[in-house]
Amino acid sequence: MAQLTGLTFGGKNWIPQFVQAINQAKCIGCGRCFKVCGRNVLSLRAMNEEGEFVDNEEDDEIERKVMTIANQGNCVGCQACARICPKNCYTHAAYALA
Ligand code: SF4
Ligand code: SF4
Repeated sequence: MAQLTGLTFGGKNWIPQFVQAINQAKCIGCGRCFKVCGRNVLSLRAMNEEGEFVDNEEDDEIERKVMTIANQGNCVGCQACARICPKNCYTHAAYALA
């Protein structure tokens, strides 16, 4: 199957690997991936004991924070997030052309 192919500044082909999923069971909420992503794709969110997202940051029920994909459509497939993640949480994939 054909994949979306880009070009480097030097004119070489490369295949962007777009973010697909973050394993929130493994995520420690360190925020490293958020810092390296220059495309406003990611968002750190609070979770309660039951694993449900809590929007009120002051809520006593908050147990931990995990990274989420807020704007997948902004991703350019650079994989910087996966490279910096210490817990190997990321799954990426090329874009399959029809
Ligand atoms: S692959 Fe690049 S653009 Fe996409 S979420 Fe990761 S750091 Fe951001
Ligand atoms: S770098 Fe990995 S462990 Fe840290 S917040 Fe991002 S996904 Fe979670």
